[in-house]
Amino acid sequence: MLLQGSLLLWLQGSAAAAASAPPPHTCAALGCGNHDSVCYCAPTCYSYGDCCSDYQSVCPAAQQQPLQFSDINLVVTTDMHSWLDGRPHQPHLNASIADLETMVGALRTAAGGAGKDIFVFDNGDINDGTGLSASAGNHVDYLSPLLRTVSYDALNCGNHELYQRGDGHNDLCPITGLQQNGYVAAWNGRYLTSNIVQPNTTDPVGERFTTLTGPHGTKLLVFGFLYNMEDHCPAVDVLKVEDVVRSAWFLAALTGPGKTADAIVVLAHMDAEDPLVTVINNAIRAVLGATKPVSFLTGHSHMRKFKRLDGFASSFEAGCKMDTVGYISFPKTPPSSAAAPAADTAAAQKKRLPDSNSDSDASPGPISKAFAAPEIPFKYYNIDGNTASLAKALNSSRSRLAPSAQGITVRNLADRF
Ligand SMILES: [Zn+2]
Repeated sequence: MLLQGSLLLWLQGSAAAAASAPPPHTCAALGCGNHDSVCYCAPTCYSYGDCCSDYQSVCPAAQQQPLQFSDINLVVTTDMHSWLDGRPHQPHLNASIADLETMVGALRTAAGGAGKDIFVFDNGDINDGTGLSASAGNHVDYLSPLLRTVSYDALNCGNHELYQRGDGHNDLCPITGLQQNGYVAAWNGRYLTSNIVQPNTTDPVGERFTTLTGPHGTKLLVFGFLYNMEDHCPAVDVLKVEDVVRSAWFLAALTGPGKTADAIVVLAHMDAEDPLVTVINNAIRAVLGATKPVSFLTGHSHMRKFKRLDGFASSFEAGCKMDTVGYISFPKTPPSSAAAPAADTAAAQKKRLPDSNSDSDASPGPISKAFAAPEIPFKYYNIDGNTASLAKALNSSRSRLAPSAQGITVRNLADRF
């Protein structure tokens, strides 16, 4: 009996231990920063869509540090795909564009207080992804008024704006919808289509480029390119990037406003590592030399990526579907005290990048710091698309991020459905 009783106690103890052990494939079991064959507990899981189900609750944005301002500060969304109203079923992606706009407003105020300029961009692929898009015949009529409430400084066109399936659900080309409903015109020349033209013409659908001047005098020349898309709707033509960068207007933009701009920003709806990025960068370098700061804000792959292109240029891609709000900042000129360290190109291009980093903070490459050529240090952050992370990026509280931009929420459109 004694033996049976001990065995019973042991069995009960084992059962209790089993019951208290965290379930497999959770961050509670794996620990933050770790992963198993099923899911990850590191912020890169946003890019790969393989976050463990308890990631946000167990690993609460410990990786996020408050943003720092430099001379030039850029916020970017890309490939939103109509995910504008948060995700109640995925708490780690609960931020809406109302939260985004609240954050942008707070950033503008803080940057202004520091005497710095901040600019906000969208990089295209606004549609296709939720019913908010699919329930409109052109996939954009319900998105447009919502996106208009974000104080973007310039916007780009993605490939999804150029798909027309004629299947009863997408009978009009979305870019036609954006023209007809006044969205393109409403941005007053800041909806950019550097290589998208009206069919059989060279007339751009939006504007080929724009110049922006911040309240504190920072000047940017901004382009908006799409990759060499071939399966676009007949409402437009997409010109080859290689041809456009040899065109007279492109060279004139560089020799004109480009000369006096503090930096060139290229909204590029193409992978951060697309060879066309290099084509554009080389064309800019040919006119403006090796030391003009150039910031490519890329997209399309839906991943978080960063790639240094040369000493004064980088390509930064900030996830997709509001899982990420991208932020990149850099000075107008290299630090004057000493040559900046060489970029660790290999580290910068490894598959799972850190979510906030100065590429100059990375381990030095094979070139000695002492003899490295001057370069611009780009500091980038992938801010997770939830209210806690957005608030922490502002060094603020979540409650202060409560959407103050009334009228933005999708629910206000409920009467349309
Ligand atoms: Zn996309």
